[in-house]
Amino acid sequence: SVRKTILEVSDLNAWYGESHVLHGVDFEVREGEVVSLLGRNGAGKTTTLRSIMGLVGRRTGSIRFDDQELIDLKPDKVARRGIAYCPEERGIFASLTVEENLLLPPVVQKGGLPIPEIYELFPNLKERLLGASGTRLSGGEQQMLAIGRILRTGAKLLLLDEPTEGLAPVIVQQIGASVRRLQELGFTVLLVEQNFHFAARLADRHYVIEHGRVVDRYQRDDIKTRMGELNELLGV
Ligand code: ATP
Repeated sequence: SVRKTILEVSDLNAWYGESHVLHGVDFEVREGEVVSLLGRNGAGKTTTLRSIMGLVGRRTGSIRFDDQELIDLKPDKVARRGIAYCPEERGIFASLTVEENLLLPPVVQKGGLPIPEIYELFPNLKERLLGASGTRLSGGEQQMLAIGRILRTGAKLLLLDEPTEGLAPVIVQQIGASVRRLQELGFTVLLVEQNFHFAARLADRHYVIEHGRVVDRYQRDDIKTRMGELNELLGV
């Protein structure tokens, strides 16, 4: 059965001040999929996620989510429609405890995961609860906390920006397992990744972005047979 398209991005253009960064990005994500955006540094992957949230200076085109247009909505309204963004820099407050960080999201609505369920998904975080505030979390724990925090919001579509950046291979595997678990729980995930092998294992489909446009697309099963082209596109 063909799953319903939950996000449809068409002719998306975006600017930071005078700088025109996205030049007509087109792609779609179906309900329950994990989709990755691949591309070299500066290709426009992060800007695509930020544009969906409304976190760029100006954007035009169409972003349809759950059959409703988002292009003119401010970030808080986008969040209320059920999309959450986990930025590359994670945004964890070091002076707060794990639990205080989980209590922070301003948009908490029906469907937001209760804190005990977040600890079930990320058992490492629960162990950290015993620590006092100001506990220094490892990079992997910060990433888990950052993802845990957006699950509080009740979002159905999760935008994850380079969740594996700077993490040791064993932690990357744990993050991968968590994303799979989220997919089983019914979440939809749109992922930006430099770690091509992580993305290749995890995502159902991939889009390649270059100079602010989608230049190619791959199904999970295309990856092996088209590895040569992909290496060239990504410069890996
Ligand atoms: P990276 O992995 O390096 O973040 P990316 O594909 O995510 O790569 P973007 O961060 O989306 O790329 O950047 C796309 C372009 O927009 C780059 O040329 C970048 O220099 C520019 N850019 C990004 N953020 C800003 C900003 N706040 N102001 C001006 N230009 C920006």
